[in-house]
Order: sequence, then structure tokens, then C-alpha cells
Amino acid sequence: MEQPICMKCGLVMTPQNARRHPELFLHDGCLPVYDTKKCEHEFLEASVNVSCLHEGEGGPVHRWQADVRIVCRMCQLPFRFIGLPAGVDLDGAAVSIDGQEARLAVAPKGHVLTPLESTECGGFTARKVQ
Ligand SMILES: [Zn+2]
Ligand SMILES: [Zn+2]
Repeated sequence: MEQPICMKCGLVMTPQNARRHPELFLHDGCLPVYDTKKCEHEFLEASVNVSCLHEGEGGPVHRWQADVRIVCRMCQLPFRFIGLPAGVDLDGAAVSIDGQEARLAVAPKGHVLTPLESTECGGFTARKVQ
């Protein structure tokens, strides 16, 4: 397959140097500078991390949490999640203090959740799943 060429500088584009707007045929460094105030935030990038929460150290997995972040690919402005309580809710949805990370309780289809013994999070360990 032929390598795409940057429309501005004419050099080959790779997934590394043209992450933000490959469809525009411009390197990240060759993109026009977007003012976050002028940007209409039309091209967004979402990232999700899912953590397994164990019951105590080495205990069985009993909760899963998806952490979602959204940034504008044009101006890199982070998005805030609206209407969620701040903190962690293992039986629902919450948002980080800065509002930029939604923490959503998720579970496999058909999985029956056992009630939490306490609402404290001190005993949990989180493992990242990519
Ligand atoms: Zn270029
Ligand atoms: Zn933007």
C-alpha cells in the first residue's frame, strides 16, 4: 500500500507523526494551530480503560469499572462529563473531580452483582485491562 504524503510539507505520513488528522493528509506538526475558542470540537477521540476490582488483595474480581476520557483531536481540549456525581460509584456512574474522566460501573452480560458489603474502596485493588 502506498504511503500517504503530507499535503503541506510533502513528507511521508506515518501513524506516529500523523495521529490527529490522517484523513486531512497533514502531519500533526503541519496542522493549522487551532484555537480552543474557535475550534468547534467536531473530531473527538475517546479512550477507555477497564479495571477489574478485586475483593481484597488477591480476592475474586467482583466489580469492573470503565474509565472514559474524551479529548478534541483538533485542539486537544479535554471534555468534561456533565451531570455525574464526583467520586467513585461502583454500582453506578461517577466522574473524577476535574470532570474529565467518567467512571462507569460495568459488568459482563448476565453477571449478577453481589451487593457491596461496604461503600468503602480501601480494600480494592485495581488491575488495568488493555
Ligand atoms: Zn507535513
Ligand atoms: Zn477542539
